[in-house]
Amino acid sequence: MAPDSRHRSSSIAAKIHCREIALDGSGLSPSRRSPLDRSAWRAVALGSFSRIVVAVADPIRRLVQELSRLPGIGEKSATRLAFHLIRGANGAGRQQIQDLAQALLDVTDKIRLCSVCCTMTEGDPCSTCADPRREPDLICVVATPSDLVAIDRGGHFRGKFHVLHGLLSPLEGIGPDDLRIAELVRRLDTGVREVIVATSPSVDGEATAMYIARTIKPLGVQVSRIATGLPVGGELEYSDQATIARALAGRATM
Ligand SMILES: [Zn+2]
Repeated sequence: MAPDSRHRSSSIAAKIHCREIALDGSGLSPSRRSPLDRSAWRAVALGSFSRIVVAVADPIRRLVQELSRLPGIGEKSATRLAFHLIRGANGAGRQQIQDLAQALLDVTDKIRLCSVCCTMTEGDPCSTCADPRREPDLICVVATPSDLVAIDRGGHFRGKFHVLHGLLSPLEGIGPDDLRIAELVRRLDTGVREVIVATSPSVDGEATAMYIARTIKPLGVQVSRIATGLPVGGELEYSDQATIARALAGRATM
């Protein structure tokens, strides 16, 4: 082989090697991976990304498809996760896969909605609703169970919660009957003093807050909205105009 072509082929090999490591994300050289990994990633390195799915076995392709349905997981991330999971499938990693599968089954079989606040729970009522130290006449309304966790994590709110399971969205065809608003209204008979609407300051979040206020106020219950504005530690000069306008509108007397 001529020196030039030898140099060219070693350069191509090096590029493939680098691309394999970059796509894998493990940092391991191909020679240190299992034969399954090496052949699969060789196929990835030699073809376009769309060939990843074609090049791998059917069970792996199905795993990639299922993982890529998760929020925030694209096809590339799903592929990386799938190969991470199956890398040790015939060795020590098998237990990890079994634990993950069991955790998914447990969530499916054991988790239900709390009959009071509609959050996801194993016991009914949930631990928040059953906690006697929480103020029973103060309800914070959130869109999702993860929003509940985010607010409760700080430990500053000592009232109860109510989870809507979404936001009103006329464009997506989500109306009041699709959310847990009727369940919220039913709870007001138990002597609720104030409802705090803690939906996000998005178009759908604002529309949901307005709808809840219009529904609940005539029932004689105080409705308030969480404040929006500048984040703690944020710089005024770097804030957008909408955030500054919200901060001014939501000012508090000192
Ligand atoms: Zn509950």
